[in-house]
Amino acid sequence: MVLGIETTCDETGASVVTQDEEGRGRILSNEVLSQIAQHAAYGGVVPEIAARAHVESLDLLVARALDRAGCKLKDIDAVAVAAGPGLIGGVMVGLTAAKALALVAGKPLIAVNHLEAHALTARMTDRIAFPFLLLLVSGGHTQLLAVRGVGDYVRLGTTIDDAIGEAFDKTAKMLGLPYPGGPHVEKEAAQGDPARFDLPRPMLARQKPDFSLSGLKTAIRIEAEKLVPLSHTDVSDLCAGFQAAIVDVVVDRTRTALRGFRAAAGQAPTALVVAGGVAANEGIRRGLRRLAAEAGLKLVAPPHELCADNGAMIAWAGLERLSLGMIDDLTVAARPRWPLDRLAEPSPTGKA
Ligand code: AMP
Ligand code: MG
Repeated sequence: MVLGIETTCDETGASVVTQDEEGRGRILSNEVLSQIAQHAAYGGVVPEIAARAHVESLDLLVARALDRAGCKLKDIDAVAVAAGPGLIGGVMVGLTAAKALALVAGKPLIAVNHLEAHALTARMTDRIAFPFLLLLVSGGHTQLLAVRGVGDYVRLGTTIDDAIGEAFDKTAKMLGLPYPGGPHVEKEAAQGDPARFDLPRPMLARQKPDFSLSGLKTAIRIEAEKLVPLSHTDVSDLCAGFQAAIVDVVVDRTRTALRGFRAAAGQAPTALVVAGGVAANEGIRRGLRRLAAEAGLKLVAPPHELCADNGAMIAWAGLERLSLGMIDDLTVAARPRWPLDRLAEPSPTGKA
């Protein structure tokens, strides 16, 4: 039984997760407090506000998570915490709290890479074996990774400019939709005509499965500027066009990564996994489901509440690491940058 703590961005999370006899993860509690309302007025996450909000709510959330799980601190086997990558102030809040809890309870501390937690969630929900292909798509990350084992990743592709979630958020902002934009763009897209605008599909058919989103964003801006003032139909059609372009790009880039998978992992993937906040998008899920079927693979997409940031994924990654004896000492530092693939070139934007 592991307590997991998440404070890397704008969600404070605390959760208790255990494992049944067959190795399947069981979430005993999963407390998440979103700070979206505190950041909305600024159109994005303000690091100082985020760090303060984590300080204010974390102890309460931990108490609640233990309570809902029906256990006390002394009952847990380890304290797992996301030690990065993320906004340094928030990460330090979670890490300091986790260190204090581990010290007081005399339990091991496990410093989890937030991206690894997203990656391993599919093993908690669907017990898939290594290696698998992971498409990690969130507000700050867009990566295709061969997941070969715990702590063993090969990055096949990444974005050379914006992350996909960021492109959704910026598109929403240009079209006057609220923050965070992803869910709003998806809702508008459902009513729009995806064929009205001729939008680019950047990087399509490139040999390396990298992404580039800034050209698409610019194309949306140019179309929107031509139409000002935008009608509701204009907004829906632009959203539909944007999302259709994203789905085409995601499917093409993931197909390319599948082709290169065996060379990176030594064998075929057991599954195609999508994770991160953007994985909530049904259009993207549909596209990936088609691709997985075409490749004879299963698509594993965690339930929406496990796609967004949460403590359960940190606790599960902690369980996986604990079972391999991978624990950390109390001097472990917070890491604003922490690539999963240590050998990969840093992405030009640092966003990976
Ligand atoms: P994360 O960085 O993992 O916390 O995920 C947050 C990002 O996911 C933000 O950029 C959101 O706009 C994006 N997002 C959330 N839901 C959706 C959705 N349904 N479609 C597209 N993007 C989404
Ligand atoms: Mg995340």
